[in-house]
Amino acid sequence: MALYFLPYLFMKKNPISSTVDFEKDGVQHGYLKLPHSHDASAWGSIVIPITVAKNGKGPTILLTGANHGDEYEGPIALFDLANQIKADELSGRVIIIPGMNYPAFKAGKRTSPIDGGNMNRVFPGNPEGTFTEKIADYFNQTLLPMADFVVDFHSGGKTLDFLPFCCAHVLDDKEQQEKCIAAMKAFNAPHSVMLLEIDAVNMYDTAAENMGKVFISTELGGGGSTTAYTVEIAKKGIRNILRHAGITEGDLEVDETLNLDMPDDNCYIFSESTGLVEHCVDLGDEVKSGQLIAKVHNIERTGSYPDEYHAKIDGIFTGKHFPGLVVNGDFLGVIAVPV
Ligand code: CA
Repeated sequence: MALYFLPYLFMKKNPISSTVDFEKDGVQHGYLKLPHSHDASAWGSIVIPITVAKNGKGPTILLTGANHGDEYEGPIALFDLANQIKADELSGRVIIIPGMNYPAFKAGKRTSPIDGGNMNRVFPGNPEGTFTEKIADYFNQTLLPMADFVVDFHSGGKTLDFLPFCCAHVLDDKEQQEKCIAAMKAFNAPHSVMLLEIDAVNMYDTAAENMGKVFISTELGGGGSTTAYTVEIAKKGIRNILRHAGITEGDLEVDETLNLDMPDDNCYIFSESTGLVEHCVDLGDEVKSGQLIAKVHNIERTGSYPDEYHAKIDGIFTGKHFPGLVVNGDFLGVIAVPV
């Protein structure tokens, strides 16, 4: 036996079971069930809603919302899709999970209230780890391998706000990168961004990309709520990506998109102050290198000047801290460059 296979001999079984049959044609609504013994239910489970819609042969798309539990455009669009999807209109398979980190989603929090787990920082997961790690491992071992296309919906959540964008990453495999860019263009959000991650290790994105999948993600707004405008971007993006994948028929709905790039760390501005933030530009504003982006006021006393934060590059103000108060180390804003 090749040594290459040795790790697989020791791969542990994931405790999650599924009430849906991924190979069956038709539309099935069910659950991923993860045993969770706790005070209110000794033999209870975390039950994660899932819809699988399949018709014959064709590509598989895996659609997820609430990787972070306080980001809502994706979950709304995916619950809506699950209600409306018809198997006879498909060639292939659509796997819909509106609440990926379901405990976090139910609590309206970014991270799991059970174990504090941040779903997008625990991949590839662990079948014997925390609840969040067990869910991640199920995606890594069972769901991602089935998929050709993967769309993971994010928004800013309670602490960030973004210009609505769909994004792809710079990848070592340029052929794969081009497929991801084509999917991002097909999604056709008002902004299309080549995204530089602050810390890509342990992200779902990275796990999917390392398996060679066509992966795109979004940031569709923020502040822990939605607008009719940003929800419609998610719904239209889903209609478009299903057509792009060849799973449904029809022409893409194409509106204008602004292509943006995040070339290096200079696009990010972080606070080194603790206090009250005053953003001096709004999302979508054109900014110049050296321009004042934000002030942080000292709230411990009057009569002290605020700390000032300036743009390091020219571009479009694309994302910002959402709540009024910041601490040292908080993200203040990001500037992306039109291409
Ligand atoms: Ca997020």
